[in-house]
Amino acid sequence: MNDQRSNCSQEDRKQEVLSRIDVVVSDITKLKVDAIVNAANESLLGGGGVDGAIHRAAGARLLEHNKTLGGCPTGLAKATPAFDLESGGIKHIFHTVGPIWQVKDQPLWGEADEGEKLGYTLEDTLLASCYMQCLSLAEKHGCEVIAFPSISTGVYGYPKDRAAKIAFGHVFGYLSQHGKESLPRRVIFCCFSEADAEVYRRTIEDCDTWMIGRGRI
Ligand code: ADP
Repeated sequence: MNDQRSNCSQEDRKQEVLSRIDVVVSDITKLKVDAIVNAANESLLGGGGVDGAIHRAAGARLLEHNKTLGGCPTGLAKATPAFDLESGGIKHIFHTVGPIWQVKDQPLWGEADEGEKLGYTLEDTLLASCYMQCLSLAEKHGCEVIAFPSISTGVYGYPKDRAAKIAFGHVFGYLSQHGKESLPRRVIFCCFSEADAEVYRRTIEDCDTWMIGRGRI
């Protein structure tokens, strides 16, 4: 009976955390959120992909500002104003530098064949750090809603399934530890294609299987 009751409240808490996480398909610069995350490179001076789109939309003042920041190491994040994006309601851009995927044949937990290595790679730790850093910046800057692109899964070559597990797992963990009165209240995974969004949706739906007990909070 007690077990049943505690399972039920664990499930309620899990659902409460999940209700604060959304998956959308959009150009991240078009979202009406307090903060968007940029998957930048260490120079912070712009590039291709989502970085290029954000620099174009935020305007030349972003580049001028970022020239004063001295770059950013992989796994860390720096906050800037949103410049021209402020007219659309975005107040902050959190520039984080995801890792370049260089690992071969090292499956994430729960996916290995017998004899294969399991566990976190250095890249996984750095990618997780990108998400945690940006969530902390959101809290520090009073952001209710933050949107993440799928960091490192473009030219940096991260396997999409694996990146989605790390992204969701850490966001879920963070929101579980920070109650619904804490900031950020909502986290959006902003995907650039329906196929990418499907990877996130599946990752979230299946989280009880791959989180190895960590789906229970
Ligand atoms: P990285 O160098 O970190 O791999 P990319 O910009 O190449 O960064 O890709 C990261 C992710 O951002 C990819 O999933 C890509 O499809 C996506 N993306 C590209 N442009 C946009 C955009 N305007 N809005 C949201 N996501 C985008």
